[in-house]
Amino acid sequence: MTHPSSGSTRALDVLETVFGYPAFRGQQAEIIEHVAQGGDALVLMPTGGGKSLCYQIPALLRDGVGVVISPLIALMQDQVDALAEVGVRAAFLNSTQTFEESSRIERQLRDGELDLVYVAPERLMTPRCLELLQASRIALFAIDEAHCVSQWGHDFRPEYIKLSVLHERFPQVPRIALTATADQQTRDEIAHRLQLDDALQFVSSFDRPNIRYQIVEKANGRKQLLDFIQGEHAGDAGIVYCLSRKKVEETADFLNASGITALPYHAGMEYAQRSANQARFLREEGIVMTATIAFGMGIDKPDVRFVAHLDLPKSIEGYYQETGRAGRDGGPANAWMAYGLQDVVQQRRMIAESEADETFKRVLGVKLDAMLGLCETLACRRVHLLDYFGQGSERCGNCDTCLSPPISFDGTVAVQKLLSTVYRVDQRFAGGHVIEVLRGIETERIQQWRHDQLSTFGIGADKSEAEWRAILRQVIALGLIAVDYESYSALKLTDAARPVLRGAQAVQLRQYQKPVKTKRDSGKQKGYEESTLSAEEQALFDKLRWWRVETARKNNVPAYVIFHDATLREIAKARPRSIDDLRGVTGVGEKKLETYGEQIVALIAELG
Ligand code: ADP
Ligand code: ZN
Repeated sequence: MTHPSSGSTRALDVLETVFGYPAFRGQQAEIIEHVAQGGDALVLMPTGGGKSLCYQIPALLRDGVGVVISPLIALMQDQVDALAEVGVRAAFLNSTQTFEESSRIERQLRDGELDLVYVAPERLMTPRCLELLQASRIALFAIDEAHCVSQWGHDFRPEYIKLSVLHERFPQVPRIALTATADQQTRDEIAHRLQLDDALQFVSSFDRPNIRYQIVEKANGRKQLLDFIQGEHAGDAGIVYCLSRKKVEETADFLNASGITALPYHAGMEYAQRSANQARFLREEGIVMTATIAFGMGIDKPDVRFVAHLDLPKSIEGYYQETGRAGRDGGPANAWMAYGLQDVVQQRRMIAESEADETFKRVLGVKLDAMLGLCETLACRRVHLLDYFGQGSERCGNCDTCLSPPISFDGTVAVQKLLSTVYRVDQRFAGGHVIEVLRGIETERIQQWRHDQLSTFGIGADKSEAEWRAILRQVIALGLIAVDYESYSALKLTDAARPVLRGAQAVQLRQYQKPVKTKRDSGKQKGYEESTLSAEEQALFDKLRWWRVETARKNNVPAYVIFHDATLREIAKARPRSIDDLRGVTGVGEKKLETYGEQIVALIAELG
């Protein structure tokens, strides 16, 4: 496919005729222009921001094939199918293919019959593949998920480091690296390791205004999750992240037993079962995926309505990437997390017990502290998040702390009571026991150790166990108390505890809030209300969705590859009577018009 005429009008022309979109979003236009003219680029854009078009359109505008390097082999088929739907000649090369298949694609590549080819990094590095590329005409290299080059991140792929070879072997070919991970350290690492120091950097706003952030205090996490799903997301597709494989399985069973279709996904499962579950999640509607973080990189299902965390993520980067998988279509979505004392203890322990060297442990500790800061903040979650990525913003009005501001109180006295009790039990007992002493509970163990004789016995009887746990959690998060994992999780005072004990430093705490059942708060979030459909429009919309299910099944692709919900909704409203009326609906490009136009017009005519 070649497109005559020049410059940015050509890019806009491709956007309209091929992809069916009327306008570029954010920095897309500048990025495309820059790369189409042969420049290198480093693109940082949040999930759902529209990164794919940033390399797809320049690949169509330039001579030759665009080579997309991606670690996500499992998604290549869907990506290629989606491109075929809009008439772009795309293929992939990876280890799932037979020799015959890859030979055919290699021939097409050499003969210049492809617009885009997706290649796994380990495949790219083979001498055979590099020779093949040398013999082909290449429009550009796109390095997707470029943060995989970072050794600090959890997505690190050693083969990514070798990608600097591209610059050496193909100095004339422009390269564009893309990622949704925004922190400065990762950005520098990408630029450095991929030899993109001279590339133009495009850093988008990382805000995802349609996502509502909520972090609730964990009481009974699973039950709270169920309330949340039933209350706000009945019938919606969503992802639930858990820390361990076992918990993933248990949570899926629990949800299924409660009438919610849930599938597990983690790296310990058989590959076939894992990919079957992923395929169902992508193709069917309303499935909840319970997963470890092994699931999700590159999942571009647009209508994931919520992402829930039952365990604390290790870093804000991880949290932001995972929650970013919600609401890629721009519709209202929830990022919900249940967080409690046990999470803090567990994460700190995992770092303490890991095999990593001291420097690495320090980095992990700093990242965890930042994550805890987000959980404990009294300010707007979004402001806190964006600030972490170096971007200023205003109170958002669409997060839990904005919607129902937490109450803070001067917790100095309570914290002093807690610290001195820890001291009086010789820093040899875990949190549960310390709280029992504070509350004046006469357990066998307390009597055995004569802790009922301590001056602090019962001085905290005015607070419930849950309140004390919330205080202890914050005190650990603040670093006033450390947990000694080598000795029965005993609580120990840190140096930072001294000024508080002496009364030289005050401590502001977040008031414990009893978990409340969430209700669909008259449903829609302000500013993101999807225009409601009339009864007639709704009937047509439903009919279009049925047609889409059928068509997707026939073509063996996910439904959203045919049309997004937003497109079907627009069609239901516009009721196009002819192919010409249908042209101009967002998401309907020339190829789709040609393939599906008549069917849709006929379907509408049937309804009269
Ligand atoms: P990501 O940055 O996460 O890779 P994608 O490239 O998958 O995001 O784009 C997210 C969604 O937004 C896709 O469904 C895509 O078709 C849509 N999109 C991207 N750019 C535009 C645009 N200019 N106008 C309308 N929709 C767009
Ligand atoms: Zn807010």
